Order: sequence, then C-alpha cells, then structure tokens
Amino acid sequence: MAQLSSVLAQATPVLVERGEGALVYDEQGRRYVDFTAGIGVTSTGHCHPRVVEAAREQTGKMIHAQYTTVMHRPLLSLVERLGGVLPTGLDQLFFVNSGSEAVEASLRLARQATARPNIIAFHGGFHGRTVAAASLTSSNTKFRSGFAPLMAGVSLSPFPDPWHYGWTPEQATEFALDQLDYLLQTVSSPKDTAAFMVEPVLGEGGYVPASTEFFAGLRERADRHGILLIVDEVQAGYGRTGRFWGHDHFAGRPDVLITAKGLASGFPLSAIAASSQLMERAWPGSQGGTYGANAVACAAALATLDVIEDEALVDNAAQRGEQLRAGLEDSVRTHLPAKSNVRGLGLMQGVEFRDADGRPDPAAASAAQRRAHEHGLLLLTCGAWGQVVRFIPALIVDDALVSEALATWDRVLGDAAAQDEPARG
Ligand code: PMP
Repeated sequence: MAQLSSVLAQATPVLVERGEGALVYDEQGRRYVDFTAGIGVTSTGHCHPRVVEAAREQTGKMIHAQYTTVMHRPLLSLVERLGGVLPTGLDQLFFVNSGSEAVEASLRLARQATARPNIIAFHGGFHGRTVAAASLTSSNTKFRSGFAPLMAGVSLSPFPDPWHYGWTPEQATEFALDQLDYLLQTVSSPKDTAAFMVEPVLGEGGYVPASTEFFAGLRERADRHGILLIVDEVQAGYGRTGRFWGHDHFAGRPDVLITAKGLASGFPLSAIAASSQLMERAWPGSQGGTYGANAVACAAALATLDVIEDEALVDNAAQRGEQLRAGLEDSVRTHLPAKSNVRGLGLMQGVEFRDADGRPDPAAASAAQRRAHEHGLLLLTCGAWGQVVRFIPALIVDDALVSEALATWDRVLGDAAAQDEPARG
C-alpha cells in the first residue's frame, strides 16, 4: 500500500470535490468560502464556464503540441493577446509551466545577456523551490534549509519593509537603497551583477508592498550599471492588486517580467517577457522544455484574458479589495493587540498578528487560520514567522461573499478574544 509522502505540509484537512467561483465543496457537500484561490491562481474563480469551455474544446483538438517540435495556434494567439497587457517595450515572451521555472528562465536570460554571474535578491522575497529559485528566496529558511549548497552568485539586500524594521515607509526605503549601494560597493560589484530580482509586493514573505521610491531607486541603479531589473509578478500580477501588474502601483519599469499563477486560471502555465533586444542577446536553444506552453493551458489563458476584460476583474479587485481592507482593519482594531496590522494591495491582503509586546505572533495567526476553516472560510498564512494570515480570493469575488468572509473572520477573532479573556484578567 502506498501513501502520499509526508514531505507535503497541508494547510487544511479539507478534501474538495468541486469548486465554483470563490466557493469549494467537500465530498460531504460542505460549502467553504475559498479565500486562498489555490494560492492566488484561480483568478477567474473555480471552473469559470468560459475557461472550462475553452479547455474542453482545445482538449478535443490537441492537448500536447510540443512547442519545440511543432507550433500551435493557442500559443501564437496568446502571445499576441499578452502584447496588449504587457508593459510597453516587453515584446517577446517565453513560456514554461511554473513560477520557479520562469524564475530560472529569467536567470538564464539575465546571465547570458549580460555575461555577468551575480544576482541580487531582496530579504523576504519568495521566488520558488527549485535550487536556483530557492537561492533567491529568503521568506523562510524552510525553503533553503537542508539541501545546501544552493546556487552561488546570489546576494541578498534589505526589502523596504516598514513593519519589520519598525520605521516609516520612507525610512525603510532609504535604508534599503542605502544597503543596496553598500552591497554593490562591498560584495557584488556592478560589473559582476547581472540582475536585481524583486517582488512588487512580498508574497510568501508577508504581503508587504514595495514603494515608488524603491522602484525608482532600483531603476536608476539598473540603468547606471547595466544591471537588469527582473520583476517577479507571479503572485502580485494579473490583476490581483487592483492594477494589472503589481509594479504599476510604483511606476516600475521592468526589463524582465515573470508571470504565472493567475495567467491560466489553474492550468500550469508561466512566462517571462522582455524586449526583443534583450531576448536576442540570449542564446537560441538555451530555453525550452517538454511541457512548456501546453495547448490546453494556452487556450485557458486566452479565455482568462477574455473574462478579465469582459467582467472588468481588475476594477473589481480594486473595489472588493477596498471593502476587504476596510473590514479587516475594523476587525484588527476591535480584536487584536495594538501592533497588529493589515498590509497589502487590492485582493492581496494580510493580517499580521502581533502579541501584546509587539512581537510576531505565529501561534495566534495559525489558530485563527485553523478556526476560520472550521467556520467554513479557507485562508493561508505567510510571513517569516507564519505570523500573517492572507486573504487572496478569486478576482470574481462579489460584495456579498467579501461581507460573508469578513463576518466569519470577525467571529473567529471575537471567539479567540473571548477565550483569552480569563487569562488576560
Ligand atoms: N514567485 C513568487 C512571487 C511566488 O509567489 C511563487 C509561488 N508562491 C513562485 C515564484 C514560485 O511559483 P511555483 O510554485 O509555481 O513554482
């Protein structure tokens, strides 16, 4: 008899049978409000009829049109359509399957195009679990520990995280840029540095948005030294933050953009985008893969873009994000110790639990996440200590479901406060 490996850590014991929009149902028919969206993947909701239809139709025609052997129409159409949403100038795309693979593809591109070895990533960033991607990841040691040596040539520099440092956003940004200059001066010389790799909003690292000044500082240094700015939009991109790309909030100008998760509403698909001038500096045949740009995934991605446009999902993410944010702030003010806070953008919101002394409180966060699932609300945690509970519903979520989730969350925090009462007194 075989079992699923114990290496998999499971956030809830729910055994799902089906999903519809922002709801999932288990085998007993119990309904859950899903504010995890498959870790920010099912942008159009579970099983959006137009995505299902597009995938069904493509499945009947061609499933695996291996893209280094033959070419297929869904891929060519997707490239054309993505041209309409990508930042100006990023006019070439390359496709793989997962976020980590796309991160690796961007590293290959950056190293070949610059003929430089080093990459600078930022504290709290998450870029994936494959060895090269893990080398850039510092959201938690669990993603790095026990399988060293990691890839050489990576240096880490502070991310402007005001909550971690206990500073204002301006102070945190000034510090981060100052430390970046110090790193370029002392550890990773600009002439050895191929790229900066950054998330517009730390995802696994705790839902911390960057700042306009930080992005301006990265751009200026990148231009000055011929370093590439790679923006990892795997979690923050594709409408989630209430703008199409997370870096749109900060007037960012990436040289390379990485996208995955929301791109195909749940089918494995990821991509890197860059200018043709940059892509042409990499070596032909240096990228590829058996499963990249699967035809069914590309068809689903085309339907995803149609739905995002026709249902104005980016605007919806901004509006429902405001509703969610306001409700979470109320509940935190009412129930949690003073230093607890809400952070994030659009439908990418996190509640950071801090104890009465202001220290990160992962035990309270995971207890709340667990109780929420018992009350029928699926949530995940994130942050270096697991002290942040994150809310990432599908972009189709409506007013009523956000209100329902907020009411459940308020009850979860209220029950916990009531249980704590005797101990406090
Ligand atoms: N980058 C970011 C910002 C992510 O959030 C993730 C996944 N959480 C990845 C990369 C890695 O993606 P995948 O799990 O598909 O490899």
